[in-house]
Amino acid sequence: MTSTMVVTPYRAAPGRACGPCTLCCKVYALPEFEKAPGVWCRECAPGKGCKIHEQAPAQCRNFFCLWMSDGKLPEAWRPDHAKFVLSIFPANGFVYGQVDPGLPGAWRKEPYYTGLRSLARTILSERRHVVMFLGEEATLVMPDEAIPLGKMTSADQFRIEPAFGPNGPTWRAVRA
Ligand code: SF4
Ligand code: SF4
Repeated sequence: MTSTMVVTPYRAAPGRACGPCTLCCKVYALPEFEKAPGVWCRECAPGKGCKIHEQAPAQCRNFFCLWMSDGKLPEAWRPDHAKFVLSIFPANGFVYGQVDPGLPGAWRKEPYYTGLRSLARTILSERRHVVMFLGEEATLVMPDEAIPLGKMTSADQFRIEPAFGPNGPTWRAVRA
């Protein structure tokens, strides 16, 4: 299963609106329309919005990315600027980022890379993690490093645990 928009219990923060952002209509799969991840939805007017709006599938209408639901995230983190969409996966509370394949390295640039590692540090004590997905290639973002996890999707069940690698202590993903 590829990464799809996941309906979350979150709502738009006061004053937040998608504006010209339509990135979730590109990065996620939409099985109802047989839409693959990483390509624009046929109903999307990029930079404008959804052409079918109220008739859009429920998972679209009920999706709020982290930038929409967290009013403290700066404007630069709006997904059309950042080139990735962050969301909280309800099942494990992890922060998943789905990367725009048109600019796959943007999240490793500043201010994003420092911000993502800082977020990873903040939620680590809750055993929550930040995982960035480029298609199905997953990368675990930890406070001090980014660790490739290989092929994985947000739908896979896995946990993150400490490990010992050739360069000393590190982390690994273990499928549940
Ligand atoms: S990625 Fe977030 S801000 Fe952008 S259109 Fe989707 S919900 Fe709105
Ligand atoms: S149906 Fe509308 S909201 Fe849903 S992905 Fe397509 S353009 Fe976006």
